Amino acid sequence: MGKLICVDAGHGGTDSGAVGNGIKEKDIALKAALKLGELLKKQGFNVIFTRAADKFINLGERCRIANSNAADLFISVHINSASSVQARGTETLCYSQNSFAEIVQKNLIERLKTKDRGVKERKDLYVLNGTKMLAVLLEIAFISNPQDASLLKKDLFLDDFANAVVKSVCKHFGVGFVGDEKSQESVKKDDVKQESAKKETVEVKKNIDVLLNGKKETVSGYFADGKNLFTADFIRELGFKVGYDKNTKVVTLDNDDVRDIKIIVDGKEKEAASVLRNGFNYVLLRDLEKLGLFDLDYKDGVVYINSKKMS
Ligand SMILES: [Zn+2]
Repeated sequence: MGKLICVDAGHGGTDSGAVGNGIKEKDIALKAALKLGELLKKQGFNVIFTRAADKFINLGERCRIANSNAADLFISVHINSASSVQARGTETLCYSQNSFAEIVQKNLIERLKTKDRGVKERKDLYVLNGTKMLAVLLEIAFISNPQDASLLKKDLFLDDFANAVVKSVCKHFGVGFVGDEKSQESVKKDDVKQESAKKETVEVKKNIDVLLNGKKETVSGYFADGKNLFTADFIRELGFKVGYDKNTKVVTLDNDDVRDIKIIVDGKEKEAASVLRNGFNYVLLRDLEKLGLFDLDYKDGVVYINSKKMS
């Protein structure tokens, strides 16, 4: 039987948590927690979330969810804040010192390259003393520090966070760590080492087979580096408004690299990654799935899309 991990995104709904530098703790914590949960599932763990949406859940309820499901491990995800803008870095809070807290703190620092604030005992924190299983509360970085905040806005940084935590969970339970697709750390390395070689060797598929609400279609897209990229036009055909504003430099059109772009979904700004190739902007379908636009699955080389707008 696989281990059950309870992933707890801090705050939510009417409780924003810390706010600063244009972002809210509740939003970043949720994004990071969902990435963490998805990656844990990929590794074969069972996962329950205390919340998977922007919803208020009180602290007692969070503990009850973990306890009544007999979770093996409780991971609470938070963003730190301080009155001094100088304060920055990553810390792991726990009820009492333990090896998992040490491992996760070490792996986070190694991967995120943030300031190491260490493992701290906090017997006063409700989710740490109200949960019956091993529990940690991770403060990824400081929302009040401009450098930390700019990292927290990056999807790749949160991917790195998820990878570091999952690696630690695997180590704790003695399971081999497979790891996820390239994120910030590996992308940086590849840029230096393999940029020229990559263009020659990477397998690139230009049309992608898609099962759209059960109907098979071949759409214009891009498959490279293990990722499916679709033209913004295709996303528009699905009935969504995808926008980018060249004047405000929301999409930069200079290099073949992945960048964060803002996507306007029903009038609201969201973030996603975009890649420019051959003069077209491609959007990661995976990112759009995270925005709740549709469900996505990938099996035997076929992408299954269940569009909530078309069905
Ligand atoms: Zn918090």
